Amino acid sequence: MKYKRILLKLSGEALQGPNKSTNIDPGVLEQYCEEIKAVRERGVEIAIVIGGGNIFRGGQAEQLGIDRVQGDYMGMLATVINGMALQSALERHGLYTRLMAGIKMEQVCEPFIRRRAIRHLEKGRIVIFGAGIGNPYFTTDSTASLRAIEVQAQVVLKGTRVDGVYSADPEKYPDAERYTRLTFQEAYEKNLNIMDMTAFTLCMENNLPIIVFDMNKKGNLLRVVEGEPAGTLIS
Ligand code: UDP
Repeated sequence: MKYKRILLKLSGEALQGPNKSTNIDPGVLEQYCEEIKAVRERGVEIAIVIGGGNIFRGGQAEQLGIDRVQGDYMGMLATVINGMALQSALERHGLYTRLMAGIKMEQVCEPFIRRRAIRHLEKGRIVIFGAGIGNPYFTTDSTASLRAIEVQAQVVLKGTRVDGVYSADPEKYPDAERYTRLTFQEAYEKNLNIMDMTAFTLCMENNLPIIVFDMNKKGNLLRVVEGEPAGTLIS
């Protein structure tokens, strides 16, 4: 295994599944679990940040007449709902997990305590970080970068619907170029929108590599963790 401790970022929106007919699609959840289990069985320590976009995004708040900050907290709570769903699904697969949140919710999860999170990882528990960093105006991408640095993960693995970073949106421009490797500087200069700026800068300044890869392709997470060039590496 190339990486021994990873931070996996999963999008909330992807949980809706291909038809977007439900907020949490059991098929997607099942597929996530199989991918994660295959990596865990090889002894890799796994931390996970899952988004909340399938339920609520702070950015939507104002058009609904909801205060922006209030909306951001609603988005953070959405990530806890997704985290609880993922936790339960992972446990059904026989994995040990802990859900730690940036907002105190003692009945459903532990508060985020860095040393404790590291201890959980060392014991082989999959640690899911819910409720973002607990502050409005941030995203779950920023949460992924920050928590990865805090728990000394070796890489942020950003699971998406596409197999890497392209020169333009490949769903709109079929002849867009796919990159296999980029430096942070190149990604910044080409304005490639890999993560929001806060998240991206955190990784760059702390020399934390990011791999963007297709989470929907079977066996891909394992390939990435083994160091195979299955996505785009930004370092
Ligand atoms: N959010 C926040 N602070 C954080 C993390 C998340 O305010 O530290 C809010 C923000 O409003 C965001 C929402 O939670 O829109 C859901 O997360 P995100 O949009 O990143 O989820 P994704 O799009 O990846 O599903």
